[in-house]
Amino acid sequence: MLLFTPGPTPVPESVRLAMAKPTLHHRTPEFESIFAKARTKLFELMATDEVVVLASSGTGAMESAVTNLCHKKLLNINSGKFGQRFGLIAKAHGIKQCEIIHDWDTPVSVDEVMGVLDSDNEIDAVAIQISESAGGLRHPVEDIAKAIKAKYPEIIVIADGITAVGVERIDTTNIDALIAGSQKALMLPPGLAIIGLSTQAVDKIGEGNGYYFNLASEIKKQRQNTTAYTAPTTLIIGLVAVFEAIEAKGGIAKLYCDTARRSKATRFALEAIGLHSYPKTPARSMTTIDDVDANEIRNLLKSDFGVNVAGGQDHLKGKIFRINHMGLIEAYEMNWVVNAIELILAKLGRRPYDGTASRIWNETYFVSMLSKVAE
Ligand SMILES: *Cc1c(COP(=O)(O)O)cnc(C)c1O
Repeated sequence: MLLFTPGPTPVPESVRLAMAKPTLHHRTPEFESIFAKARTKLFELMATDEVVVLASSGTGAMESAVTNLCHKKLLNINSGKFGQRFGLIAKAHGIKQCEIIHDWDTPVSVDEVMGVLDSDNEIDAVAIQISESAGGLRHPVEDIAKAIKAKYPEIIVIADGITAVGVERIDTTNIDALIAGSQKALMLPPGLAIIGLSTQAVDKIGEGNGYYFNLASEIKKQRQNTTAYTAPTTLIIGLVAVFEAIEAKGGIAKLYCDTARRSKATRFALEAIGLHSYPKTPARSMTTIDDVDANEIRNLLKSDFGVNVAGGQDHLKGKIFRINHMGLIEAYEMNWVVNAIELILAKLGRRPYDGTASRIWNETYFVSMLSKVAE
């Protein structure tokens, strides 16, 4: 079965094998040197002034970012389940909160965010998804962060990059907290979350807040290549192996480039056979299609073609399907998926099969290479 869900994503074999080695104790020089290596690589990936890892799923990092960095009132952008979650976290901790709500296919604009900030001077942190996985939507986070910092430099910008870090290069110039999670673009099993922090964020954290998710205690320990509590040793070992796997396949810049091409080729191929891309501004992490036959297509992909794609949640249940682009994915696997979808549309009597999806996919994906050869 090909796993094409936007999290969890497939774990490369070299990474699985690295994690199968005998367990290490976490308070040893051996583990500390592995941790130091992971930390160096994370600084490169996140491009932030500080980095901490947490033994939790991505939501733990969202929660710790809010509780440590929002001292007065949070503005969260709710264009889907994950954006909504930031607001629920604030409420659960008794933190004041307001939100901008949109349909799950609609990104927030710079003007909307600035409008709310202009009218409410209590807000000291803004939380937003870079890629909102509920509908495969890309928010203009970099532009929003830039506008916020230009006018209200003291406001902290929290960016959930769980389906964006490792997918594309993120400009962190105006971002104070950038969140990543192991089971999405980092190709690891679930259980590790990462937060990249600006110096401004580290200063604001001060003594930190909470106990397990107190970022001040983690920053202090992790600067010494250890963790405040038992480190998720296996996942850290796996993370180092992930960076090696990316290097072996040509490096992170190539991964970003291949992901962009794969994402575009998939959307073009599916649009060419009459399907509709759901989000108004698609994220590169996944292709999201809204369709009356979404459930049927998902079921047939699984039963007839051995492909597992994700459906929708809440009101989008049965109405969309989401195809993952995160990680090191082979072109032939992706091509198999779009071709399978075209065969399914023929089976459902929607259009005769003529190989359009596969052809458009190949033309789009390889076109830059073809033109290079021709030059
Ligand atoms: C998956 C995901 C999360 C975190 O989910 P966990 O299940 O806690 O790992 C947060 N934000 C986005 C955008 C996600 O895709």
